[in-house]
Amino acid sequence: MLLSDYRPRPKLVTNTTSVLKPRFPVIDAHNHLGEPFGGGWDTKPISQLLDVLDEASVRVYVDLDGGWGEDILHHHLDRFKTAAPDRFRIFGGVNWSQWPEQGHRFGEWAAARLREQAKRGAQGLKVWKVLGLYVRDQMGARVAVDDARLDPLWATAGELALPVMIHVADPVAFFDPLDQANERWEELHAHPDWHFPCPPFPPFPDIVNGLANLLARHPNTVFIGAHVGCYAENLEWVGQLLNHCPNFYVDIGARIGELGRQPYTARRFFLKHADRILFGTDAGPDLDAYRVYYRFLETDDEYFNYDTGEIPSQGRWHIYGLYLPHETLEKVYFRNAENVILKGSS
Ligand SMILES: [Zn+2]
Repeated sequence: MLLSDYRPRPKLVTNTTSVLKPRFPVIDAHNHLGEPFGGGWDTKPISQLLDVLDEASVRVYVDLDGGWGEDILHHHLDRFKTAAPDRFRIFGGVNWSQWPEQGHRFGEWAAARLREQAKRGAQGLKVWKVLGLYVRDQMGARVAVDDARLDPLWATAGELALPVMIHVADPVAFFDPLDQANERWEELHAHPDWHFPCPPFPPFPDIVNGLANLLARHPNTVFIGAHVGCYAENLEWVGQLLNHCPNFYVDIGARIGELGRQPYTARRFFLKHADRILFGTDAGPDLDAYRVYYRFLETDDEYFNYDTGEIPSQGRWHIYGLYLPHETLEKVYFRNAENVILKGSS
């Protein structure tokens, strides 16, 4: 037998709780409606999408797919926001490909585009992980996450009270050598383009430290660090950043695999930073995925798959539920997102 065919099944006899509905209706602060995450919702009737959200008790769905130029943003606003204004928030994006053309004016140009996107209905700004990995300036040099030339963009987001959902770097193992010690070997083997060896890419710590600098330099702009502040493997680091930067929040999208394999640390993290953590799945409008998240947050079930597929996609381990208290669930499920994303917008 090949190791890749190995499918061990746990023989534990423990609680299996099925959580069909969350304790409170949720705001999903990190998700997508474009391909591939949206699962083709671009063409299916909106009523079907709303049925899934109702079934999962998702009150508001934040779609981060406003894209790079404004084409996708306009399309998503017209298609989803217009059909059900209360159910969706659509975030805009930055068209980095314009940097060579705009040159030293890029920061001001991007800030002006953001103003236009906000006028058209964007209710936040999504920054994809390309910043710090792929984005290049007019000289062809890689742009660091905390590059001062982008200050006008971040300041404008603060002025317009638009939250910035920022994703930098990726799982730490994606930066490690692809060898027998890499805990994400199977995934990287299947997706070689997710591997960021240094060189040519910057080392992981440089990228996340750039994020820390950026947050400290823009205290009047609200940042949501995607995927548990972009460093779910190190909750001590994320906790320190939350302590130092009151303008910083995190979502949990696509990281219950990380949180749930360190359940004692994760539970303490949730209790300590209950006002700063936002619910999100990053899995598309997927009923089964929502239910795994609800089970993780609400129950004390042990050693279960964090994924909806047979083999956990982010590493061959299982997770433990956090059985969060009522007040913490209330904040994480919707109160924090109400304050950070819904406030002042409709
Ligand atoms: Zn995402």
